[in-house]
Amino acid sequence: MLIVLAQDITQEQKNNILNILRQGRCIVREITDAGQTIIGSTGTAGQKPEFFEKLPGVERVVPVKTAFKLVSRQLHPEDTRVQIGDVEVGGERIVVIAGPCAIESREQTMAIAREVKRYGAVLFRGGAFKPRTSPYSFQGLGEEGLKILAEVREALGLRVVTEITTPAQADLVMKYVDVVQIGARNMQNFDLLKCIGRLGKPVLLKRGLSATIEEWLMSAEYILSEGNENVILCERGIRTFEPYTRNTLDLSAIPVIKNLTHLPVIIDPSHATGMREKVSPMARAAIAAGADGLMIEVHNDPDRAMSDGAQSLYPEQFSQLMRDIYVISPVVGKQLDFGYLDKAKAVHHLKKARGDVQKAAFLGEIGSNSHKACTQYFGSQVSPLPMISFKEIFESVNSGKADFGVVPIENSLAGSVHENYDLLLEYDFRIIGEITLRIKHNLIGHPGTKIEEIKRVHSHPQVFRQCQQFLARYPHWEHVFVTDTARGVKQIHESGSNADAALAGKDAADVYGMEVLEEGVETNPRNFTRFVIISANSLSNGQKKKSSLVYSTGNQPGALFETLKIFADNGVNLVKLESRPIHGKPWEYMFYIDMEGDIDSEALAPVLKQLKGKTDFLKVLGSY
Ligand code: PEP
Ligand code: MN
Repeated sequence: MLIVLAQDITQEQKNNILNILRQGRCIVREITDAGQTIIGSTGTAGQKPEFFEKLPGVERVVPVKTAFKLVSRQLHPEDTRVQIGDVEVGGERIVVIAGPCAIESREQTMAIAREVKRYGAVLFRGGAFKPRTSPYSFQGLGEEGLKILAEVREALGLRVVTEITTPAQADLVMKYVDVVQIGARNMQNFDLLKCIGRLGKPVLLKRGLSATIEEWLMSAEYILSEGNENVILCERGIRTFEPYTRNTLDLSAIPVIKNLTHLPVIIDPSHATGMREKVSPMARAAIAAGADGLMIEVHNDPDRAMSDGAQSLYPEQFSQLMRDIYVISPVVGKQLDFGYLDKAKAVHHLKKARGDVQKAAFLGEIGSNSHKACTQYFGSQVSPLPMISFKEIFESVNSGKADFGVVPIENSLAGSVHENYDLLLEYDFRIIGEITLRIKHNLIGHPGTKIEEIKRVHSHPQVFRQCQQFLARYPHWEHVFVTDTARGVKQIHESGSNADAALAGKDAADVYGMEVLEEGVETNPRNFTRFVIISANSLSNGQKKKSSLVYSTGNQPGALFETLKIFADNGVNLVKLESRPIHGKPWEYMFYIDMEGDIDSEALAPVLKQLKGKTDFLKVLGSY
C-alpha cells in the first residue's frame, strides 16, 4: 500500500503512521515522487485502507496490487543502481560480465580474464560450485575455484561473480567474491534466498527454467525483504517446446521487468541459446531491447571446456560483439565504455591527490543533452556542474573550479560547433575523451496537455531546425529560443500553462515532472552529437585510439598537401579535417585534424616530428 502524505503533515503524525505499520510487522519505505512524500508499506498491519485514510496527515491511500511489494516500481519509482566496486549496474553504461562457465584452472582462468578485460568486460564470472544435470559431470573446483577468482580480482582489478548453491557455502563466498549468483535451478530455493538477503552482497538472480516473471520477482522480494536491495535480475532463457535452442530467450521480459520493477535486468544469451553462433545476435538484440547489461560465457579453448563449451564464445568473437554493442548502445540512449575501469581508477587517483569530489562543467541545466553526455562519460563518480556558456566551461576549467569540461564538438546533421573549436585553440587544455550521444527530441508539455492547447514552444534554435518537418504541421506555434533544451522545459514548468511546450530530451521531462506528448519529433533520426572531454591535465585512462591536433601551414602551393602526405606515408588514417579562420589574419586558416592512433606514442613520434617541420604552428589537443 502507498500512503500519500499531506503537504502539511507534522512529524508526530508521520511517526504515528510509521509506528502502526512497524508494529504490524510491515516493512516501510519513504518515497518522494514528483514533490510528494509517500510511505510505501509491504502490508496494511491488519487494517483496512480506509483506516489509514482517516488518520491525520494522510491525503489518500493507493493499494499496491502486485504480490511483490519492495521490488515493485510503485514503491520505488527510481531505477536501482547496484554498485560493485567502480561498476554500477542499472546506470547509463552497459555492464558486461564475461568469463568461462566454470573455473577449471588458474592458467585457464587468468588467460580468459585477461582477454575479456582487454575487450571491455567490467566484471568476471566463473563457477566454482556447478549445479550440473548429471552427477557424473564436472562439479567445479569448490574453494580452490573461489581462490582463483579472488586472484583474478587482485591481479586485474575485475570484480568477480560466482554461483552459490547452498547456504552452507555462504561464508566461503562472502570471503572471496563480489557478487553472488543464484542459478536458475535455485531461483526458488527460499532458504538460499533468505540467506543471501541477510548477507548483503550484490546478488545476480537468474530466472528459473520455467518460472513466470511474477515468480521470479517474488524470489527477488525474498532477498529485498531480508534487507538486501542490491539485486540484479538475469534472464537466461526459459523452457519451451522449441528444441532448436537450449532454451527460449524471453527478450520481452526486459520491457515487462522495466515496467514492473526498479531492479536492473541483464541478459545471459549463452545459457539461453546454448549455441555459440546464436549468442551474439541475441546479445545485440538484448541491448536494443533495453537490457542494462549482459552475461556472456567466453572460453579460450571451448572445445576442451569442462562445461558449456558449445555455447562459449572465442575471445575474438567476444571482441566483435563488444564492438557491435558499442555502436548499438547510443541508439537506445546508453554507452558501452571501453575505458570504464581505467577511467574510474584515474578519477579515484585525482580525488585522492586533491581530496575532493571531481567536478565536470557542462552547458545548460540538469537534464540537457550535455548533462547526459557528462553522466554517461563519468557515471556518478564525478559531479556535474551546470554552466551558461561554452566560454564559461573553459573558464571554470582554467580557474580550477571544474576539473573537467564536457563540450559538444560536432553534430551529424548540423556539423561542427565552431565556437568550441576556437576555444580549444585559445585555452591550453587536453582533450582526454569523447562520447557520442543520439539526440532524440520530444514534444514535452504539462501532464495531460492536448496538442490543440499549445501556443508556444521553447527550445534551442538548432533544435527547431532539426524538427522542421514536425513543426511545419503547427505553423501557428510561436518559437521561443533558449540556451539549452533543459532550460526550455524548466521555463514551461515555471509558466504552469498548457499553452507552453518544449522540444527536449526525455531526461529533462523527468527532471521537471513534465510529460512527453510526442516522442522522436526530429526530422532525421540519425542525429548524433559528439562531445569531447577537456581537462587541464591528462587522464591516464587506458589505451588511446584517437588524437586531435591543430596546425597552420605557410601560404604557399602544396603546403597543406605536404602535411597530409606525412599521414599518408606513415599509414595514419585521418577521420576529420576542418579549417577555421585565424583571428586577426583574414583568409588564413588553422587546420583541425582528428586521426586514428596515439600521436604521443613512440610509434607515431616520427609523424609528429615531420609535422613540426612542415607547419608554422602545431598543437596537440589530446589523445584519447
Ligand atoms: C551459469 O551461469 O553457469 C549457470 C549454471 O546458469 P543457469 O543457472 O542460468 O543455468
Ligand atoms: Mn554455464
